[in-house]
Amino acid sequence: MTERLTHFIGGEHVAPADGAYFASTNPATLEVLYEAARGTEADVNRAVAAARAAFESPAWAGLTATKRGHLLRRLGDLIGENADELALMESLDNGKLLREMRGQMRALPEYYYYYAGLADKIQGAQVPTTSLEILNYTQREPLGVVGTITPWNSPLTLTTSKIAPALAAGNTVVIKPSEYTSRTVLRLAELADEAGFPAGVVNVVTGLGAEAGAPLVSHPDLAKISFTGSTATGSRIAAEAAARFIGCTLELGGKSPNIVFDDADVSNAAMGVIAGIYAAAGQTCIAGSRVFAHKAVYDELLERVTERARSIRIGDPLAGDTELGPLAFADQLAKVDSYVKLGAEEGATVHAGGGRPEGVDLPGYFYSPTVLTDVNNDMRVVREEIFGPVAAIMPFEHEDELLALANDTEYGLAAGVWTQNLARAHRMARRLEAGTVWVNTYRAMSPMSPRQGFKNSGVGIEHGIESMYEYTRLKSVWINTDEGPVADPFVMRG
Ligand code: NAD
Repeated sequence: MTERLTHFIGGEHVAPADGAYFASTNPATLEVLYEAARGTEADVNRAVAAARAAFESPAWAGLTATKRGHLLRRLGDLIGENADELALMESLDNGKLLREMRGQMRALPEYYYYYAGLADKIQGAQVPTTSLEILNYTQREPLGVVGTITPWNSPLTLTTSKIAPALAAGNTVVIKPSEYTSRTVLRLAELADEAGFPAGVVNVVTGLGAEAGAPLVSHPDLAKISFTGSTATGSRIAAEAAARFIGCTLELGGKSPNIVFDDADVSNAAMGVIAGIYAAAGQTCIAGSRVFAHKAVYDELLERVTERARSIRIGDPLAGDTELGPLAFADQLAKVDSYVKLGAEEGATVHAGGGRPEGVDLPGYFYSPTVLTDVNNDMRVVREEIFGPVAAIMPFEHEDELLALANDTEYGLAAGVWTQNLARAHRMARRLEAGTVWVNTYRAMSPMSPRQGFKNSGVGIEHGIESMYEYTRLKSVWINTDEGPVADPFVMRG
């Protein structure tokens, strides 16, 4: 019988209130891996109640910030000890390369260590006002119950980016993972329990977006929602949060430019283009899906990228030499393929790839690394996020023209620049409308470095010290040190 995974609420495994489960499938082999609880409003209510009770309990609220840091550090240790198991679970679930997921899992403890170290550095300030008699100070408080909703492409890393700072700041969390990748997040909750987090501090409700995600966002006891996913869903969540005046952090989609100047090391730049669009089969928010190459190096870059794209080893994500696994699920494959067909209808040339690769002996959702040329900013394949291994490569001549083209997008998540010219590198970093700019590298990330999506790519900050403040509220305390009579009560005081 297929294994069944239940919610994790209040420190316990909890069966879904209405008894329903849904299947999770291996996208490489199409085998059913397990069934996960199909959460509904009743399960969400139970999880938020557990998180609320934990938030108010002495077991959590009574801990010093340093003790919270110890718990986070212990959780980081346990993740490190279980990294290989977690990596295998994620690779089976979402089809990303095992060695990519191993890299992510081995890096994950650093997120917990970083926020563990920050937990007892959350400070207020003593503020000088216009009166010497007044002692004014600020203090940062946790918000309460934080809901997190995440996609399937990097389940634990994206969840960690939210819960590590939220827990460091003293909140409790209810996590709704993607319906395509329930397993590792449930395992994370078990590890948090093992690390000694009090029951109810970390809760997981699995299920579909409309059935389990929506009631979490609209729950009246939720203090904040932190979401990573598509811009369409993010917009709906932002509207709901605004109606209830709760905060939201949104990490959304992208259509990032990867720009190669004529003074670049073209061989390195070609590798950067490959990394930007074919790593993780292009299923990353920061995919460098719009490649702009100066016309002096356009032919060489196109040739190098095409040659490498055609030789990418496609197949079993668990095999050590595989470079490209399947897309994560059937709709993803259909979406990517329909965009490539649309591109051709719009006048693009499918210069490489397009369609299912030959010679892959697994039945899963594989798609060839694809290069589109003869494309421009009027085409939907250049404007819309495809979320697959599809690069649109375009020539440019002048820097100003390039900047106008690169910034002509609703998104603003990331950008890559390949140049040996220092002045140009800094100029581009200043003028590109993107929350992250990489120069002579791509897809670099660290828990220490804050990141923010500009324009339709997001609201709020993840990673870095700044992210932790997103999970606090600021209180200003005024103390009158003058014991004399109160002055004119009809005049505002300083
Ligand atoms: P999605 O928006 O379809 O789903 C994301 C999550 O939201 C899932 O857990 C889903 O169940 C839930 N959800 C869906 N509808 C909901 C609703 N009405 N209410 C509450 N929750 C709901 O996105 P996806 O297809 O899973 O992920 C791919 C998208 O995520 C891409 O657009 C990608 O760019 C983006 N992404 C962004 C980042 C970033 O850091 N900016 C990182 C990774 C992925």
